[in-house]
Amino acid sequence: MRLTDYFLPTLRENPKEAEIVSHTLMLRAGMVRQETAGIYSWLPLGFNVMKKIEQIVREEQNRAGFVEILMPTIQPADLWKSSGRYEDYGKEMLRIRDRHDREMLYGPTNEEMITEISKMGVRSYRDLPTRLYHIQWKFRDEVRPRFGVMRGREFLMKDAYSIDIDKEAARRSYYRQFIAYLRTFERMGLKAIPMAADSGPIGGDMSHEFVILADTGESAVFCDRDLVDMPVPADDIGYDDDLEAVAAAWTSKYAATDEKHDEAKFVADVPEERRVSARGIEVGHIFYFGTKYSDAMGASVQNADGKATPFEMGSYGIGVSRLVAGIIEANHDEAGIIWPESVAPFHVGLINLKVGDSETDEACNAFYQNLENAGVDVLYDDTDERAGGKFKNMDLIGLPWQLIVGPRGIKSGEVEVKNRASGERFNLSPDAALNMLTSRK
Ligand code: ATP
Ligand code: MG
Repeated sequence: MRLTDYFLPTLRENPKEAEIVSHTLMLRAGMVRQETAGIYSWLPLGFNVMKKIEQIVREEQNRAGFVEILMPTIQPADLWKSSGRYEDYGKEMLRIRDRHDREMLYGPTNEEMITEISKMGVRSYRDLPTRLYHIQWKFRDEVRPRFGVMRGREFLMKDAYSIDIDKEAARRSYYRQFIAYLRTFERMGLKAIPMAADSGPIGGDMSHEFVILADTGESAVFCDRDLVDMPVPADDIGYDDDLEAVAAAWTSKYAATDEKHDEAKFVADVPEERRVSARGIEVGHIFYFGTKYSDAMGASVQNADGKATPFEMGSYGIGVSRLVAGIIEANHDEAGIIWPESVAPFHVGLINLKVGDSETDEACNAFYQNLENAGVDVLYDDTDERAGGKFKNMDLIGLPWQLIVGPRGIKSGEVEVKNRASGERFNLSPDAALNMLTSRK
């Protein structure tokens, strides 16, 4: 992509309304624009990152045996009346009337709809497990939308649902997601720690929030330091293995969000030097809720003995749009964002130090073509901005590599490659630079 063809409305100054660094940087890097409280347009750079995140989430859901569908954003109120949640949800739900005066709503989540879909599709216990997910916009009229896309009103979520014949099978679905989440967040360069969370009226031990530690996090969290650097399950662990046993490496150690925190147990279980009490950002939540919706909505199936048994269900959310901000909270410095390679909007920022100088233009065009041909995403700064401004901008938007080409270097047969994360610089021949950047892909 040539910057002159792109749309990158960066800001020089820190916007006044931003309270946390990810919000500041997303506005300064021209990633989003607020349309009204908690509602954003995603501009090219931000949208690009969000799509990369979404794709990682999708690949790991598929790998865990969940199947993608797409449910609508608008739902009929009757559906929610059938579970009793229409009244309970309160003001967080955006209620709408259509031209026939029928009550509708903008979905905050999809348990009811998935229960109806499954009722239609599941005829026998042989059809179970049913494991579905979608990646769709949600609306929650949060009391305090804040921190940019971190707590929006309209936001993109991956929500998955499992339907099983009994509790034991439901546990297996639950732990599939548990392992899939560890893998998903790791691929984004995040250390997300599963923490025991409030499981509501069902009780039990099957609710975990996946939390990344950050000073700007909204919740207080407590955990064993061993969890912070725990390596994720190796690829040879498959989804038919005993994943509850694999997850025990995490679940056997203390980790809890503030609602679930038990200080006495924390002190007893974790030696002082390993006690972490910090702030965290919730990026995912997995939840077993048993027969809560299937009982209310009459969703059952005949088991092997011919007896009607209600669906055993769980739901599993990931905040896809929140993750864009979460990743920035975890990866930035004074100069701007530092994207992990796996979610970077482009891999290389090509800087032409003297647009209009024919040799430099020619060298840049050749790099641009060769990198694109090798499948490396390049953002080519071909504007006539000063060099200083170009460097600042490239650091701000945080692409993993910069390739800097100017007339002086060209005369001596050299270009500069800079690694954004480490700040390391390499003076290389054009061929060596090309090699380095294409082998990193
Ligand atoms: P929170 O406690 O942050 O309000 P929640 O418990 O309401 O979250 P879930 O209903 O479990 O969240 O939703 C699944 C995921 O969706 C969350 O883990 C979070 O990453 C994301 N999410 C929830 N609310 C928002 C929001 N207002 N803006 C952006 N992402 C959100
Ligand atoms: Mg909430």
